[in-house]
Amino acid sequence: MANNKKYVYFYGFGKEHTEGDTSMKALLGGKGANLAEMANANIPVPPGFTVSTEACACYSKNGGRYPQGMEDQLKKTLAKLEQMMGKKLGDADDPLLVSVRSGAAISMPGMMDTVLNLGLTDKSVHGFIKQTGNERTAWDCYRRFIDMFGDVVMGPYTGLTHHDFEIELEKIKKKYKATDDTELTAEQLKELVEVYKKVYLEKVKKPFPQDPMQQLDLAIRAVFGSWNSERAEKYRQINKITGLLGTAVNVCTMVFGNMGDESGTGVAFTRDGGTGDSKPMGEYLINAQGEDVVAGIRTPKDLKDMPSENSKVWKKAHADLMKIMSRLEKHYKYPQDVEFTVQEGKLWMLQTRNAKRTGLAGVRWAVEMATGEDMYTGEKLPKILNQKEALTTLSGDDLEQLLFPVFDIAAEKKAKLITTALPAGPGAAVGQIVFEAKDAEAAVKKDPQAKVILVRQDTSPEDVGGMWAAQGVLTSTGGMTSHAAVVARGWGKCCICGAGELGIDYKKKVITVGKKTYKAGDWLSLNGSTGKVYEGQIATQVSPVVAGVVDGTAAAKKDPIYKMYDLVSKWSDNNRKINVRTNADTPKDAAAARAFGAEGIGLCRTEHMFFEGDRIWAIREFILAEDEAGRKAALAKLLKHQQKDFEGIFKAMDGLPVTVRLLDPPLHEFVPHTKKDQQEMAKRLGVSAKKVADRVKQLHEFNPMLGHRGCRLSVTFPELCVMQTTAIIAAACKVSKAKKKVKVLPEIMIPLVGTKAELDYLEKIARETAEEIIKKSGVALKYMIGTMIEIPRAALTADEIAETAEFFSFGTNDLTQMTFGYSRDDIGTFLPDYLQEKILPTDPFQHLDRNGVGQLVQMGVERGRSTRPDLKCGICGEHGGDPASVKFCCKAGLNYVSCSPFRVPIARLAAAQAAIAG
Ligand code: PEP
Ligand code: MG
Repeated sequence: MANNKKYVYFYGFGKEHTEGDTSMKALLGGKGANLAEMANANIPVPPGFTVSTEACACYSKNGGRYPQGMEDQLKKTLAKLEQMMGKKLGDADDPLLVSVRSGAAISMPGMMDTVLNLGLTDKSVHGFIKQTGNERTAWDCYRRFIDMFGDVVMGPYTGLTHHDFEIELEKIKKKYKATDDTELTAEQLKELVEVYKKVYLEKVKKPFPQDPMQQLDLAIRAVFGSWNSERAEKYRQINKITGLLGTAVNVCTMVFGNMGDESGTGVAFTRDGGTGDSKPMGEYLINAQGEDVVAGIRTPKDLKDMPSENSKVWKKAHADLMKIMSRLEKHYKYPQDVEFTVQEGKLWMLQTRNAKRTGLAGVRWAVEMATGEDMYTGEKLPKILNQKEALTTLSGDDLEQLLFPVFDIAAEKKAKLITTALPAGPGAAVGQIVFEAKDAEAAVKKDPQAKVILVRQDTSPEDVGGMWAAQGVLTSTGGMTSHAAVVARGWGKCCICGAGELGIDYKKKVITVGKKTYKAGDWLSLNGSTGKVYEGQIATQVSPVVAGVVDGTAAAKKDPIYKMYDLVSKWSDNNRKINVRTNADTPKDAAAARAFGAEGIGLCRTEHMFFEGDRIWAIREFILAEDEAGRKAALAKLLKHQQKDFEGIFKAMDGLPVTVRLLDPPLHEFVPHTKKDQQEMAKRLGVSAKKVADRVKQLHEFNPMLGHRGCRLSVTFPELCVMQTTAIIAAACKVSKAKKKVKVLPEIMIPLVGTKAELDYLEKIARETAEEIIKKSGVALKYMIGTMIEIPRAALTADEIAETAEFFSFGTNDLTQMTFGYSRDDIGTFLPDYLQEKILPTDPFQHLDRNGVGQLVQMGVERGRSTRPDLKCGICGEHGGDPASVKFCCKAGLNYVSCSPFRVPIARLAAAQAAIAG
């Protein structure tokens, strides 16, 4: 059967000829879809066509063969382009030249490859001269084409690289005493072309191809092939990009930025992606082609300077660019990152995409685009988004970045400044110098706490692993749009670029600045918000958000960053439908979480209270006791501590529910395991060292996680359940009776239940204990008794368990452990292999596994509510603070999610986004 699938889509010449639009990103890639969208809107884009991501997927699957029908479509669409442009690809008399550019659905800066000036041959170069009268541009384009084609298309198979050509360029510049390549004449460039062809022949062992169709075919194959290159794979892995078909290939009519002083090329952002400032920013180069700007070879000029260039055309080009950029931002409802070329005074847009940015910039954009006001100056701005739209532009990571530390102001003032360069990615970074990306990766692999600063002349896509591992990146060349800047900004990583004062010697592994040198291992501190590089380690201080929220500092509350956080949080609360609680074990954490907007405690792990001060000795005494009387005596000592702790927590959470979990971990966690510590314990408790050692031995379990822990402890030692219930209820009664009345809503949670009978047994003890205390105290205290659902059997029998349990809290840490059968403490030994081989898409302990564990959660909720329709359900596993998991929890019908205090704002935002998505 014939394959009628469409693989090639035309764009350009307005709506009637353009076959795609921005909604077709998955198929046309971001670049292709947006080129089509701009063409539809009559924005000047050089016409062309896009080969779909589906074609790329087939190509990879078929071992490097085009899908059936694609070649035919390619020829027909090229013929249409040629006819409309009135030129033929690579024609000897009047050649059409094209660029071949990759573009996946999600932008991957620098990851894929681009070839410019395709169609030039020994013959067509003369046609180009004839048509344009510009001999210099023709030879400049040809030498660039051989370089790019050699590097990008043939490089992966032959080892030919850009560097091989670069050496020859330098030689010829030296020969003719040119400091810049723009100084080379047409004749000299022509000479260079001959040299480049020799370089090509030497490595590729074939002459440079002179058939334009063959050039196009090889270039398309190279773009398809680059989808599976190591660096692209790595970028996708780091950025957790999954589920894409492949890359599209865009074949675009060339426009030339290298046609003299009224031509040029550049990149621009509608707003600042580092600080979030609403002013457009960008860089451009006169008489240059696109790659020159991104590669960081020539230092580009600031976009602001464009109107004051000598030639008047630049004023108009700048005004046109500003107009189009503002139109694009409104159209896409998001700040844009554009590439443009000016050919003899006429502006062409080569690309637009949602701009990469730091978390701070993202929050500022969202807030300013929705309020129509500059948060720093109060200046009026266009209102582009409503609150809901603004929230959907944000991620949990964005908000989290506002909670990052910044340098302590006083400490920074005192620090020794080494140099100041471009502030490419904000935040504070402190680390030890490394010069190679692989060294950064190795350091962090060896010690996850290792802090390194990656110092490079510039970075390339091969360095992304090391850039990711480093605290910050420092480069000596390149501008705000260099590879290092763009990638770091996308991650919210601190980055300083273009520090030209630094002499970086990779061989000797030293940096020289003036008379000083810094070697690998020396400490540096980078202020990515100001571009300042300091010697040594500078103390950091909490962010204004943390200072304002947790410490209530008045000055911090006036900081625009705090105000933006506050607005986003309020908007989140206006929209979300489920509650957000916190996991907190101390009054201090509880108070911090409340300040972050927690609406209760979803999990208070009481065992954390057993380690403080003298308490550990009481619990050890309990463990060593020979009989019930001995255990009760030990527990009595703990009771007063626990009760005091609960009083503190109840006061901090006045009016909000507090779920307290009974003791959960196995007892061996509380006893010492070294001989020395055991001896000390024996001495302290007045028993023999042998007795301690024997008991420790006795407590040994082969699988403690599946052993004597959770509710099983209280089944063996009911006095434990009695003591803890007493502490909770007595504390609740006391604070609700106190002069400054506290409203307490205690929820007693019994952990690790697998059968209804287990729960019944302990619920009875807890309820009897509670009732007696309440009766004695004369307070009308309301409390609940519920359970955690963290064993698959509990989820499966949730209907039975809900006959007794008044609430469920899904302990998805243990539930994940027991559903997969992966030990939560040992998964690190094999998880990297599972991720690498794509056996698991992500770490299931970080992101809830919807298909498996999620099914148990859903089932638990449904079955539980079939018995008890008003059953309150929440989640208290780590997933409660993971945005994707929070969204799942909303869908599953949970009443709340509970997470660590600093993740509360993130969960509020995720819950709002889930509600907005509906
Ligand atoms: C859980 O298992 O998800 C849970 C919250 O309990 P813990 O992590 O304390 O075992
Ligand atoms: Mg658990």
